[in-house]
Amino acid sequence: MPSKSAKRLIVRFAVAGTIALAAGWLLGYPLITLLAVLALYGLWGLANVVRLHRWLERPDLQVPQSVGIWSEIFDRINRLEKSRHKQADQYRAMIRDYQSLADALPDATLIMDGNENLKWFNSTARSLLGLKVPDDLGQPVTNLLRGSDFADWLAVQRELRSRLEMASPVDDSTWLSITAVDYSEDLRLLILRDITDVHNVNQMRRDFVANISHELRTPLTVLLGYLEMFEDSDDETGEMVGKMRSQAEQMRELLADLLELSRLQSDRISGEEDEVDVEAMLAQLREQLEEVSRNRHRLEFRIEPGLKLRGIASDLESAFRNLLLNAANYTPEGGAITVGWQSSPEGAVFSVADTGIGIPSRAIPRLTERFFRVSNDRARTSGGTGLGLSIVKHVLNAHQARLHVTSELGEGSEFRCIFPPERTCLAASREQRM
Ligand code: ADP
Repeated sequence: MPSKSAKRLIVRFAVAGTIALAAGWLLGYPLITLLAVLALYGLWGLANVVRLHRWLERPDLQVPQSVGIWSEIFDRINRLEKSRHKQADQYRAMIRDYQSLADALPDATLIMDGNENLKWFNSTARSLLGLKVPDDLGQPVTNLLRGSDFADWLAVQRELRSRLEMASPVDDSTWLSITAVDYSEDLRLLILRDITDVHNVNQMRRDFVANISHELRTPLTVLLGYLEMFEDSDDETGEMVGKMRSQAEQMRELLADLLELSRLQSDRISGEEDEVDVEAMLAQLREQLEEVSRNRHRLEFRIEPGLKLRGIASDLESAFRNLLLNAANYTPEGGAITVGWQSSPEGAVFSVADTGIGIPSRAIPRLTERFFRVSNDRARTSGGTGLGLSIVKHVLNAHQARLHVTSELGEGSEFRCIFPPERTCLAASREQRM
């Protein structure tokens, strides 16, 4: 169905044609007159097309004026152009609003592309990180945030979804907590929050605990020495002194764990990273496990030979020991403990599985809290400090590894430490049973 203006055009065309034919008939040349009128009409249309083309090339010029259908065409294009301008202005205003919003955020916000190059940052990033426009745009983010752990963290952050705490690259006394968010296929947002106050309070608390633990160690050692002297007496005193000594021993273990934990939590670098021979380390730990287990459990070690791990040997040993001793402590006589060190597509996995008392599922998320114990008799009487799994968690965090716990009450538990592939080397082909 033709539109109103098309109908009008057809009517006008028919009227003009009829008049031209009538005039031509009066003059005696109806066809020639009709052709002449049509040619004039065509020329007028051509002139309007040229004006339209000129105006479309330079829309800032005055809208061409015309009559009839051409006036309507010019008006309509003019209206469309105006609404397009209005929309573009609205979008520009919206972008300006979002930019001012991002600038007003108290956190430094950075956008990086798929190659981890800086694409955009807000004004807090300028003051907090000393970034400059345009010098730093397009630069690799790892060059701009030169924290010791930043590049390692960024490499594994997608899988771990963890936060990183580090000192500001422009001011050592400012502490930042960094989170990364993927918000499109190849764009990532980095949010850096100033957590200096919280960090300082935590540092004070850690220093206090470390100092107290350190100061208590010497008097406790003296006390233990005297208690050892009296423990051998045959009378009732000997029994009492024995109990006092075992309590004092537990206190010593607690202080040692507290010191270990505060060392791991401190920002000072705790040790040099090496290529750790996990196979050799586990051979030593096996001896300690056998000592604690005293033949009460079946022990099986499944070790992939030659699979090494880049990390701090003493810290890794402490974490692995805690998991092994827990398995022995929480597995009744006759149970089995299976220890694994193997590569997998997600990285190298150290695992300790037992057929022990198990852990209720509601307690699993809280296991790595300091002093957390599942409230059952064995946990209370096991003589543990409640800090072992906290130590494990800190060691794993420092190695960008994660802890995965599965357990069933009365059936047993499995603790898996998954290390990122970048930290492992030399995958071996043969599985060895010890
Ligand atoms: P603890 O020194 O008490 O063993 P941990 O931090 O090592 O402290 O462990 C916290 C709690 O988690 C333990 O008290 C125990 O209740 C539970 N737990 C840890 N390992 C196991 C395990 N293999 N089987 C059952 N429960 C466990």
